[in-house]
Amino acid sequence: MRRLLIILLLSIIILPYSFAQETSSSRLSKVVIDPGHGGDKPGAKGKRSLEKDINLAVSLKLGELIKNHLPEVKVVYTRTKDVDVDLIKRSQLANREKADIFISIHCNAAKNPSACGTETFVMGLAKSQANIEAAKKENADILTEANYAENYDGFDPNSPESNIFFALYQNSYLEQSLSLADKMQKHYTSNTKLFDRGVKQAPYLVLYKTSVPAVLTEIGFISNEREEKYLNTEKGQYEIAASIFQAILNYKAKMEGRKITTPSIAELIPQKVIRDEQERIKKEEEERKIKEEQDRIALEKQKEIAAQQKEKEAKETDSIESKEGTNGVVYRVQVFVDKEKLSKEDSRLKELEEVWIYNDNKMWKYTSGYFNNFNQANQYRNILKDKGYKDAFVVIFHKNKRISLEKAKELEEQFNK
Ligand SMILES: [Zn+2]
Repeated sequence: MRRLLIILLLSIIILPYSFAQETSSSRLSKVVIDPGHGGDKPGAKGKRSLEKDINLAVSLKLGELIKNHLPEVKVVYTRTKDVDVDLIKRSQLANREKADIFISIHCNAAKNPSACGTETFVMGLAKSQANIEAAKKENADILTEANYAENYDGFDPNSPESNIFFALYQNSYLEQSLSLADKMQKHYTSNTKLFDRGVKQAPYLVLYKTSVPAVLTEIGFISNEREEKYLNTEKGQYEIAASIFQAILNYKAKMEGRKITTPSIAELIPQKVIRDEQERIKKEEEERKIKEEQDRIALEKQKEIAAQQKEKEAKETDSIESKEGTNGVVYRVQVFVDKEKLSKEDSRLKELEEVWIYNDNKMWKYTSGYFNNFNQANQYRNILKDKGYKDAFVVIFHKNKRISLEKAKELEEQFNK
């Protein structure tokens, strides 16, 4: 810890001198691109991809854009394959190469699946615990590195004190790093639909030992389904890479005090990538339409089956011949009700004659016998009661609709007139 304090003090003393290093004769001639993680350190994990692969794909596209559009600028990668490189070696490479800028490319992740957007960090005073926490995740990679305590001046990613002290450390090129970070965020926002989370400062170990202007950029959330999908498309990767390229170009123009025309995003992304993307969207749209049509047909079919079933049940009810009196009124004896429709062999139906079923209020109601006057029906009810159908009672129908005794009498009177 004491060693860390000394370094902090030294860095604060050294800080004022560093600004003198940026002179008008400066040239931006070398960029170190650092694809975060690699090998057995995958970084954050999405539903269908790993951070290390997206970081590498975007880094290689950025390098390609620089080679094609700024051939005077040399590109050095910390890795070009799926291999693990210690954080200390990444910053050592930038220092050894005397790079003019160091850009570390990463994807963000959060527990909240709706967290989204891009943000770019420079090494410096962390203004919030959230920014320290963000750095902690990326710094955890050093835990499997040999001699990490020695290489990072006693820094321990798991110690809160270590993180707080470390967060006070400031890169000597803070102003330049901030300027580059600002430009990157500006271009992300104008070229993509990604939300701008801004430029922040936090203690990232990969930036800590880098003694050149350095940024760590989080190009979107792999934990957000929509952003993960976008970051896995060629077009998305090119849009991000082109945004960083435009920022490098603007930074170079400012540093060298000259005007450089910035190519538009359309000029930077290969035509084939745009065509493929349009093709992909078209195909997705077609597939969506086919799926919709299939769902519609399936639903129609379901409705049809349900209607057929209903019709069949209605027919079954009617199939037991309805016998009416000459005046259209029929008297029956209701014996029981049931939620389920019983099979004809059900033991409860065995003793009954002339069974007629009707559905009322989602219940199946079982009746027995048919008579054209109340007294006959009532006599039959008494017989059924003796047989054990204790709840039996007379029900009266007119044109298959249940009616009251009063209504039945009224109809009979009308008929007899
Ligand atoms: Zn990362």
